[in-house]
Amino acid sequence: MTNGGRRYDVLVVGSANADLTVRVGRRPGPGETVPGSDLVESPGGKGANQAAAAARLGARTTLLARVGDDAYGELLLEAQRAAGTDVGHVRVEAGARTGTAMIVVGPDGDNAIVVSPGANARLSPEDVAAADALIADSAVLSLQGEVPWETTAAAARAARRAGTRVVLNPSPVPPHDLPHDLLTAADPLVVNEHEARLLSGVADGSPADRAHALRRRGARSVVVTLGADGALTLDDEGATTVPGVPAEAVDTTGAGDAFTGALAWRLAQGDRLGEAARLAVRVAAVSVTRPGAQTSYPAAEELG
Ligand code: ATP
Repeated sequence: MTNGGRRYDVLVVGSANADLTVRVGRRPGPGETVPGSDLVESPGGKGANQAAAAARLGARTTLLARVGDDAYGELLLEAQRAAGTDVGHVRVEAGARTGTAMIVVGPDGDNAIVVSPGANARLSPEDVAAADALIADSAVLSLQGEVPWETTAAAARAARRAGTRVVLNPSPVPPHDLPHDLLTAADPLVVNEHEARLLSGVADGSPADRAHALRRRGARSVVVTLGADGALTLDDEGATTVPGVPAEAVDTTGAGDAFTGALAWRLAQGDRLGEAARLAVRVAAVSVTRPGAQTSYPAAEELG
């Protein structure tokens, strides 16, 4: 075991959503209707995506999440089982709707998303308190922003107490500052360029400027993902630029989650941050060449 003898490499505390996707030739403007493709229903949600990405790669992975007792909840559980995630900590909430994300994929493969939280909104600090032993038995805890922030912050605090490394992807960025103890637990904070700009307060500057600013604000280390251009990492050892891997993008949905899940796995295995990001860029590049989020994630053998 290379993860310090803990039962799980990666514990994800976070969201699970059914992705309802339609492709369009042109995005509608306000008040406009455009025709789209047939509807595709697929498993998604930032937490569930990150868990699926890590598990597909071979990480011993578990997910603390809530879904509703509807068909979408079943779809999500089935997808996690297929990826290899231990779903023993996914609670099926009677009478609740499973979270859903309405995704419009444009002609360039870029997406626009509206999320309805459903059961994700009920994942509580009490759920986290009941999972103290689970957090201590995991090498890396991966957190995102689609469940209540007090839940995410409680999980980060428990991880700090247990010596579990926290990977935080604060997306979607909250309208308020990130809780300080959450930011200072992040090792790394994983942000895309848009999130880096919002959270760093650096309006004009390079991704590296923003990464430095985020560390000054308290993040222990930072990764800025740069779309097709790869990623930049910053920690005590300095900055590393990880070039993008050329890929024919058909659908970038969940690419950031593929990156973060892969990063969490490699960090659990003891990789340095720059090294882990290099693998994560390769995983995310494969994910953009296939439709969907979890359905696009590669197994380790597919990385070549
Ligand atoms: P998304 O919201 O689409 O899931 P994101 O905005 O969180 O993604 P990005 O920085 O756009 O994050 O992408 C994450 C990672 O995915 C990048 O670091 C890169 O490794 C990979 N990636 C994204 N787009 C492409 C692309 N067109 N070609 C190759 N790799 C890509």
